[in-house]
Amino acid sequence: MKITVIGAGNVGATAALKIAEKQFANEVVLIDVVEGIPQGKALDMYESGAVSLFDTRVIGSNDYKDSADSDIILITAGLARKPGMTREDLLMKNAAIIKEVTSQVMKYSTNPIIVMVSNPVDIMTYVAHRVSGLPKERVIGMGGVLDTARYKNFIAETLNISMQDISALVLGGHGDAMVPVVNYTNVAGIPLTELLPLDIIDGLVERTRNGGIEIVNYLKSGSAYYAPAASTVEMIEAIARDRKRILPCTTLLDGQYGINNVFCGVPVKLGKNGIEQVLEINLSAPERSALQRSADIVEKNCKMLESLFA
Ligand code: NAD
Repeated sequence: MKITVIGAGNVGATAALKIAEKQFANEVVLIDVVEGIPQGKALDMYESGAVSLFDTRVIGSNDYKDSADSDIILITAGLARKPGMTREDLLMKNAAIIKEVTSQVMKYSTNPIIVMVSNPVDIMTYVAHRVSGLPKERVIGMGGVLDTARYKNFIAETLNISMQDISALVLGGHGDAMVPVVNYTNVAGIPLTELLPLDIIDGLVERTRNGGIEIVNYLKSGSAYYAPAASTVEMIEAIARDRKRILPCTTLLDGQYGINNVFCGVPVKLGKNGIEQVLEINLSAPERSALQRSADIVEKNCKMLESLFA
């Protein structure tokens, strides 16, 4: 198993180290445009193996040749959000970067699985899918796992319970239009609605919706990366170890939930073939229209990128 991480910044480097430590890949290659950064960070990580006890080879490079024959390619390259900047502000700049990065990686790997993290993630997943020509099952966006992690964290904190006992689902686009589905949230099987009043749950949903910006406002420069990297590695591990995990991921819908030809976050089964199944769950009428609204935003933004493919 060879995994290439494009972008040796906060998310990419944190994810690369986690992958190395978990030892489900033989080799992790870290690639960035900035000379020296991927090499230095990769060597530093590799040296930590003597203490953290892993043998995963970690290599840093500025040359896409070193990504040759990767099984999984994680894309985190791009610009991070700054305070006052929406994910959509990043759209054009990051789309051009993702187009370039995707065409480079596809020169050296014939049938990789691409996991997209760069924002706006649903739209960048579309760009990578379009540029790579890979089947939709092999181009997957990370957003829902992070949003769900934040939602679970806020629930656990409020109830003063372990995060391990919470099962929850956040659907839709990664952004302000995300759709936390309260009816599918439970604590050790007990519906959340039996444990917390609706107004408190609404507050947790609202905090989840603004989870990214809450961190951006603290950091001032840069955005969250520990939880994003952990969420991404959870997806990559499910693929690498063929775990058949059910996780909310961004995938190209073709009719499910009444949505056609738009990338959107929904529960999927993740295994060695990438997305092995899209699960269609019953949603209330407001949840269904919220999901549709979220898909409409993604579709509108993707249409704005047409000139990129001319
Ligand atoms: P960062 O600035 O720390 O790292 C980005 C890296 O990309 C930098 O090292 C930069 O040199 C590199 N880069 C820029 N252009 C490149 C190119 N053409 N080729 C190769 N590398 C290039 O940012 P970060 O905090 O690691 O975030 C990375 C991306 O992930 C951002 O777009 C951010 O918004 C996004 N993000 C998404 C989620 C999510 O839930 N999907 C969560 C967190 C961050």
